[in-house]
Amino acid sequence: VFAHIPHVPEVPLYAMLVAFSKDPTPLKLNLGIGVYRTEDGKPFLLNVVRRVERLLVNDMSTFKEHLPTTGMAEFNRLSAKLILGADSPAIKENRVTTVQCLSGSGSLRIGAEFLAKHYHHQHTVYMSQPTYANHPNFFNAAGLAIKTYRYYDPGTCGLDFQGMLEDLSSAPSGAIVLLQACAHNPTGVDPTLPQWQQIRQLMRSKGLFPFFDSAYQGFVSGNLDEDAQSIRLFVADGGECIIAQSYSKIMGLYGERVGALSIVCKTAEVASCVESQLKLVIRPMYNNPPIHGASIVAAILKDRDMCNEWSIEVKAMSDRLISMRRQLFDALRDKGTPGDWSHIIRHVGMFTFSGLNPKQVAFMNQEYHIYMSSDGRINMAGLGPQTVPHLADAIHAAVTI
Ligand code: PLP
Repeated sequence: VFAHIPHVPEVPLYAMLVAFSKDPTPLKLNLGIGVYRTEDGKPFLLNVVRRVERLLVNDMSTFKEHLPTTGMAEFNRLSAKLILGADSPAIKENRVTTVQCLSGSGSLRIGAEFLAKHYHHQHTVYMSQPTYANHPNFFNAAGLAIKTYRYYDPGTCGLDFQGMLEDLSSAPSGAIVLLQACAHNPTGVDPTLPQWQQIRQLMRSKGLFPFFDSAYQGFVSGNLDEDAQSIRLFVADGGECIIAQSYSKIMGLYGERVGALSIVCKTAEVASCVESQLKLVIRPMYNNPPIHGASIVAAILKDRDMCNEWSIEVKAMSDRLISMRRQLFDALRDKGTPGDWSHIIRHVGMFTFSGLNPKQVAFMNQEYHIYMSSDGRINMAGLGPQTVPHLADAIHAAVTI
């Protein structure tokens, strides 16, 4: 009965991972997949997570029970507080409903499904050009149409702010706009706070609906509150929005699939109805979310000492990213590599849109065993002081051949 099913090729990024794992060269360097690594390129387990896991092992009483459909109540409360701020009026007024979802991806998917079912103004989602490769899939799968707004300017390697404003201005009233809260994937380019303010004013005046994706809170400034400012601006004006949060990168909990979807509503009554409907979206998909990752997050966020330790580790991760940017930029400058590479230090978060074209990326792969996506995106967290010279050599060769 399945004989008619055609084979589809592997997603390029995953195909690249397979090629990387088969490459026997010790010099090989994976700058493709978007995960944070140590200086030696090893997976990074946060100390605070290690500490919490030891404590959790000793408390097995309710540990393997089912969670409710909306997940762990304490985790939800703390997640909303983390992203909206401890004094958020929206939280105090009970206008926010938060449900635990399967990481950022699951939160985006549930949010998309909820909008397809209950948001009747426009079924078009505008997303930045370019955006995280999986973004269109979450919304397409829910039956929503995808359009893009200009975002990255290859000429300046920065934000095409005018283009973004023009495209949002000409979007139909009520359209959904997907925004990355900070550390934009794949470009490494974020609007400034005054620019966010302008984006907010425009979107509110046109009745565009904001859907925030927050996967890297703390990775830009090293400060969790500062990196949530874009979202908090939109919440401070009393309007509605949706927020998908991921703990994959910021707590190194990739495989635990832990995240949250928050919907900020106009009143507590609406929030309560929204939550009841979210349950109906979640139930037929997976009934209820897993418990372990949420237990880790809740244990960290509820304890002042552990939360402090976590924020110090986030700052260290962000500092390492900044240091890798500086080292790569310095190496290219010292080699006299043709071109202006200052965008590497201007970009923020985990990624840099290097400006290398697919041919140059392919050359670097063949000659230097460097694995990155063909759009030239570099995961700065995949670099270490020992590997910077190798990458600089490869870039130099790629742009001078
Ligand atoms: N959103 C953005 C911008 C991402 O870069 C990613 C992962 O790379 C995700 C969401 C989804 O990640 P996860 O499902 O692991 O939270």
